[in-house]
Amino acid sequence: MTEEQDEGISLSRRDVFVGALGAGVTLAGAAGVAALNENSQIDSVSSDSTSDPDVVIIGAGFSGITAARELRRYGYKVVILEARNRLGGRTFTNEFEGKSVDFGGTWVHWLQPYIWAEIGRYGVELEETHGATATDVILLDYDGKRHELNFLSIFEEFNAAAEKFFDNKAYLTLPRPAEPFVDTDWMEEDRVAAKEKIQSSSDNPIIQALVETLYGLYGASELSNVSWIHLMRWYALSGYNITNMNDITARFKIKGGTRNLLDRMAEDTNADIRIGTAVSSVEQDSNNVTITTESGDKLTCKAAICTVPLNVLQDVKFSPTLNTQKLAAAKEGHAGTATKVHIRLDKEYSNFSAWSPGGDTPLNFVLWEGVEDGKTSLIAFGPSPETLNVNDIEAVEAAMKKFIPDAKVSACYGYDWNLDPYSKGVWCVYRPGQSRFLEQLQKPEGRVHFSSADWASGWVGSIDGAIEQGIVNASALHEQLTNA
Ligand SMILES: Cc1cc2nc3c(=O)[nH]c(=O)nc-3n(C[C@H](O)[C@H](O)[C@H](O)COP(=O)(O)OP(=O)(O)OC[C@H]3O[C@@H](n4cnc5c(N)ncnc54)[C@H](O)[C@@H]3O)c2cc1C
Repeated sequence: MTEEQDEGISLSRRDVFVGALGAGVTLAGAAGVAALNENSQIDSVSSDSTSDPDVVIIGAGFSGITAARELRRYGYKVVILEARNRLGGRTFTNEFEGKSVDFGGTWVHWLQPYIWAEIGRYGVELEETHGATATDVILLDYDGKRHELNFLSIFEEFNAAAEKFFDNKAYLTLPRPAEPFVDTDWMEEDRVAAKEKIQSSSDNPIIQALVETLYGLYGASELSNVSWIHLMRWYALSGYNITNMNDITARFKIKGGTRNLLDRMAEDTNADIRIGTAVSSVEQDSNNVTITTESGDKLTCKAAICTVPLNVLQDVKFSPTLNTQKLAAAKEGHAGTATKVHIRLDKEYSNFSAWSPGGDTPLNFVLWEGVEDGKTSLIAFGPSPETLNVNDIEAVEAAMKKFIPDAKVSACYGYDWNLDPYSKGVWCVYRPGQSRFLEQLQKPEGRVHFSSADWASGWVGSIDGAIEQGIVNASALHEQLTNA
């Protein structure tokens, strides 16, 4: 994070700044995780950090934490090295206006099998974002003209257009969307940019604008940068149904925030978790892997799991060098560059959502979250940090006024994932053609395994995909060490 990002932040500096605790702080099991929870001074260090670990995991997002928990089950001694001063990676629960909110990954659903299993296992509760099902919709059309719509009256037409966007053939193209390699014909379609399919989705410009807004939100970028087939994967995983897709991506969230689940999973790892510890290089020979941190410390282990996101993979030096496909994918990077901002309006508005397809609109999707003490809470998304500084209250108010002319913003905050050196982007969205990298991104290289939501077989770019990859890679590593 840069100093610029700190201006006007109401969050604790300690939580926000990367490495603010200093390098090499070590947490272990329940005590360490609880210390992070309470924002207390963390000065107690873990139990057994003396002998070499069996496995080092790079990164303590959902993927790394899941892998660590699975490896404990197999009996391995695990160290997790996390660059930031907190757990969670691209999920980040913190306080905003006295409430725990998520600045990164948020919404989950029972049609996401891996996260749903964790929700059941740890007994966390869900709560609802009501704006996701609001009947009152405000739309800015392609000319910026404001419309007030009743969603129920246009739903059927919208539903048909959302399916037509996929040429009405999502079911035929991706009959087994969670198993991408059973039949790889779908990858042939991956030259197409999502923008190319907008016009044919509907003759009605209002409906077209709604379709472009929704897929633009999922695409987290200008749709000409986004792979059409990538969006089709999400649609197929949603049961080829736009209502499910909406509910999966924007309706149900973990009560108390994603940290409520992640911390419980982290407690179950019993791993040494060293926060504020960025890895700079990974070297391996036929017997061992040696991990070097930015401060020059070295750790030797039998095998490693790297969970760093696609957009920062090339910032870690690997020896031998990575497979050329992995390197090419990392160099291109994914397209997800959206902004997300929590907004408080200073008066009460009833449930609504606001939509805008325009690539240059600072905010293109706004969801009502609730009303309290005469104020309205919203979650909003924009296409890029270039069109909006989400911590500039005047700019956010100006963006909101396009939808609600009398809007007065009393507080706002967003975390800039694009500036953060350990993500350089938001959720993973493939550019046209990038599906061809999927197989190689998933492949281990020697004793180093690669685990990330960014190359999940199923819910790519989601918390569910991160957990899927953590489970699959821990299992593959165990098999490798068992057969070594
Ligand atoms: C704004 C936003 C909104 C989102 N909304 C949703 C949503 O509603 N629902 C949903 O399911 N998903 C959502 N996502 C996506 C979801 O959060 C991610 O796909 C998922 O959390 C990724 O998990 P991961 O463990 O694969 O990667 P990450 O969470 O990115 O974890 C990787 C970890 O590696 C660490 N790391 C990186 N480089 C180094 C290094 N050199 N040394 C040591 N550590 C390093 C990072 O700090 C990080 O902790 C959203 C993401 C964002 C940003």
